[in-house]
Amino acid sequence: MRKRILTGDRPTGKLHLGHYVGSLASRVKLQDEYECFFIIADYHTLTTAPEKEKVRRLSSLTRELVLDYLSVGIDPAKATIYLQSQVPEVCELSLIFGMLVGISRLQRVPTLKDMIRDLKIENPSFGLLGYPVLQAADILMVRANLVPVGKDQVSHVELTREIARKFNKLYGKVFPEPEPLVGEVPTLVGIDGKKKMSKSLGNCIFLSDPPEEVERKVMMMYTDPARIHPTDPGHVEGNPVFIYHDAFNSNKEEVEELKDRYRKGTVGDVEVKRKLARAINDFLSPIRKRREAFSGKEGIIEEILGEGREKVRREAVSTLSRVKKAMGLAL
Ligand code: ATP
Ligand code: MG
Repeated sequence: MRKRILTGDRPTGKLHLGHYVGSLASRVKLQDEYECFFIIADYHTLTTAPEKEKVRRLSSLTRELVLDYLSVGIDPAKATIYLQSQVPEVCELSLIFGMLVGISRLQRVPTLKDMIRDLKIENPSFGLLGYPVLQAADILMVRANLVPVGKDQVSHVELTREIARKFNKLYGKVFPEPEPLVGEVPTLVGIDGKKKMSKSLGNCIFLSDPPEEVERKVMMMYTDPARIHPTDPGHVEGNPVFIYHDAFNSNKEEVEELKDRYRKGTVGDVEVKRKLARAINDFLSPIRKRREAFSGKEGIIEEILGEGREKVRREAVSTLSRVKKAMGLAL
């Protein structure tokens, strides 16, 4: 049997080039080799944004996210895309798991500490502390073997493994211990040169940006701050414009030539950026075409999520009945 994968996103906004290199590109490959479940974790957004106006935006954000997935080539015929809140069994499993983890263990999870600090949360909710417990329920509900995550989320998979072990020890073996699958690609810098392209920093090129927007953003990109005139020798290493050329320009010869001329001071930033904007637009062109094709199909998103839900719920009902049987709870 093929190994199972669970990974996904919270519906908090449009996906960008950083998401593409950091997770989407590998998902498109993984879907051919593994049985993939891609979760849209809407309940997880409530841990930090329970306000009504934010909750009401979730359904349109979810649609955009599914379109982002489809546009990069995630194929619902190969992978299962589903919405967390449409699988209520996950809440039961999360409740049971919550009894197997100590509060002090959760308080030590580094991502939670960061979140509480960054968002200046004075009194973290019970739900926020339970964030990684709910995630463990998502993962173990489908009995996933592998969990592709960024480096920062490895601690969540570790906690999931602890929960699986604890459950199996107390009640008998029901769950596999999933392994994290950490991508090797470095974090993509933002157009402002900050070390991470991120929505909250406002330094993103989105997969859904139109060509003119890409051009506008590229032309204002941060380059080599030490270089004043186009005739000054410039730095290529660590220069965001060249990092993007390496990542998105398929014409490697052009990239090498530009680097060479940049180092010698025989090409200006404007030419390097024009060529970059064209390269990114070429890269995005098939993505845009797919997006357009799918957005033209009335009801397609609902259909995909509906099928995903059916498929996951079959797994969920079966997992939960094994859980209850193992524990000796009434079925
Ligand atoms: P943003 O930071 O834009 O608000 P987000 O908060 O939804 O996005 P993160 O939790 O920061 O998303 O990242 C989710 C996953 O996406 C990460 O684990 C990583 O794999 C990938 N990712 C996001 N931004 C980048 C980036 N700039 N470079 C590489 N990978 C990224
Ligand atoms: Mg982020």
